Amino acid sequence: MLSMALVRLVPSAKEVEQFGYCAHNWWLARHGAGGQGAASERGIAAHSALGKEQGLIEGEKREYRSAIAWASRGLMVAASVTFLTVELLYLNATTYHLLFLTTALVLVAGSGALLVIGLIAQADYRRRQQEAGVVPGRLLASDLTQHTPMLQDTAWDLTGRPDYILQTNGGPTPVEVKSGHTPEHPHHSHVLQLGCYLRLVEVGQGRRPAYGMLQYPDGVFRVDWTPALEADLKTTLERMRAAEAAGKADRDHEQAGRCRGCARRTACDQRLA
Ligand code: SF4
Repeated sequence: MLSMALVRLVPSAKEVEQFGYCAHNWWLARHGAGGQGAASERGIAAHSALGKEQGLIEGEKREYRSAIAWASRGLMVAASVTFLTVELLYLNATTYHLLFLTTALVLVAGSGALLVIGLIAQADYRRRQQEAGVVPGRLLASDLTQHTPMLQDTAWDLTGRPDYILQTNGGPTPVEVKSGHTPEHPHHSHVLQLGCYLRLVEVGQGRRPAYGMLQYPDGVFRVDWTPALEADLKTTLERMRAAEAAGKADRDHEQAGRCRGCARRTACDQRLA
């Protein structure tokens, strides 16, 4: 039995996903066989399109927040001016109260217009969010719109960069975007990849996320960060280190369909189809 402690392997979450798909797939990728085929190209295009939409949505959200903030300020000033007008009326200072009243009305009208602009921006970003399939929530970081720093876990020797992180009621929540067809249940390799991000977010933020999300073209799956998933991930990392120490990783499934959909099929000497 090889000692795992002797093998220093710091895989990325993407590598864990490759290994979860097929151990030999990971081995080929690790030794220079790049991913090919329609699936890889579709994935790049989907990420890029979603990044653009996310950028527009965040712009509209800023517009909404700014309009609402200015409308609130305008209404507060209008309220103060109205109060002053009433005071002047009470004191019979007729020279100024008309001027104050006009100012208050202008402020109310301006605030009302800003409120309408804000509500239109809100409707726009919500519609865009729904159409693009972007998961709603406060965006903490997005690798789709800008290059985010690589997250690291020195205890588990793991790195990775989730597509985006949202603040939800479950804490900081990583979201991983997947192209291709939407499965009935999330693929195990995708769940393992998301497990890496959950672990990395937990270490980075100092707070355990309750769950993460896998976003497919036609649906989003919530994946809970459970002790069972943690154990599954640890076992996978140990298997990867054992393979690295052994100097090989063979195909670990008997599914021809998996080989047919494999990005490294043409470079593979163990393929079933
Ligand atoms: S073609 Fe099949 S055996 Fe080869 S790497 Fe891909 S999934 Fe594994």
